Amino acid sequence: TAADGFVHDLPGARVVFAAGARHRLPEETARLGLRRVLFVGGDGPLRRTAGELVAALGGTVAARIDEVVQHVPAAEAAAAVRTARRCGADGLVALGGGSATGLAKAVALEMGLPVLAVPTTYAGSEMTDIWGRTDDHAKTTGRDPRVRPRTVIYDVELTLGMPAALTAASGLNALAHCAEAAYDPAAGPVVRLLAVEGARALAAGLPDAVARGRDLAARAETLYGAWLAGTALGAARMGVHHSLCHLLGGAFALPHAETHAVVLPHAIAFNRQAARAALAPLDRALGAGPGGSAAALWDLGRRVGVPRSLAELGLSREDALRTAEALGARAVTNPRPVGPGDARELVLAAYHGLRPA
Ligand code: NAD
Repeated sequence: TAADGFVHDLPGARVVFAAGARHRLPEETARLGLRRVLFVGGDGPLRRTAGELVAALGGTVAARIDEVVQHVPAAEAAAAVRTARRCGADGLVALGGGSATGLAKAVALEMGLPVLAVPTTYAGSEMTDIWGRTDDHAKTTGRDPRVRPRTVIYDVELTLGMPAALTAASGLNALAHCAEAAYDPAAGPVVRLLAVEGARALAAGLPDAVARGRDLAARAETLYGAWLAGTALGAARMGVHHSLCHLLGGAFALPHAETHAVVLPHAIAFNRQAARAALAPLDRALGAGPGGSAAALWDLGRRVGVPRSLAELGLSREDALRTAEALGARAVTNPRPVGPGDARELVLAAYHGLRPA
């Protein structure tokens, strides 16, 4: 409550959110004063868009990296830094999901260059100061203001071709940012409002965005929710859900968004007692029944067809137990303390993937 007091500190990016906003990229790079851009991303289905944007930027593009690997392997990050140095880059444009943004951030972390992000999934990395890197199967993350993109261009048209499976999993990834920001005791009232409104928009938009990928209204609502989710992620401390997903992503290279989709209902159920008051607005925003947000998000996951369990993602029970040990040994800020027994309970729940009671 307001009587408890709070700290409000919400650094943000300039956000341009509109259908067709990608056409404003040259104007926005000029606004940042960029003359030698390293263009990152735009592989596979985004190749044509990347070609269009690079052509529109013309001589401003000093170099391109189009192959992007998930979870920012240290070797790729080092190679990108070398490319940026070699071409004398004065800034980066990242086109793609969290992996493209993540690679641009790795260069920004090393060289302090400004990033302009054009996100194409709901990952939310474009709104945060969080960087990640994977060395030898361990993922390290940290926070640094230098990696937070200065400008973000959200163009809903770039999301219309996102396959249904990625749409569903990525939307639940964004919902995870909302949930963990909502129950972070240190998050102030504005961040909680962003988190709850983000969750509402994501839950409202996602089913139609999955069922009819080219539904512009549903896509826009979902992308709007993803923006708020990313903003909340950038302004709050993440709890046990994100810790567990990072461990799984780093150690077993499980697919990022799907892992979040699987773990989320169980992480919320795990925190339900300890964070009852904080979760109440989220329950309302999701129109949750007696099972609260945990069951509501499990049901949403089933409706949009995301994987149900860590077992289904190919994790062995042995590796699940090993992960629980690692999680129990970590210092995690979370409403409910995470000792070894608690960690095992959570990981096994996600491993089996049954609907939280
Ligand atoms: P991704 O960026 O790895 O993209 C997944 C796949 O989808 C890629 O093959 C990509 O080419 C394709 N794709 C992306 N957009 C598309 C579109 N519109 N249409 C068709 N295909 C498209 O996946 P992601 O889930 O966005 O990002 C995951 C990575 O981001 C992880 O490494 C994760 O750790 C990181 N992340 C970081 C933060 C942060 O704040 N630092 C936040 C969220 C995620």
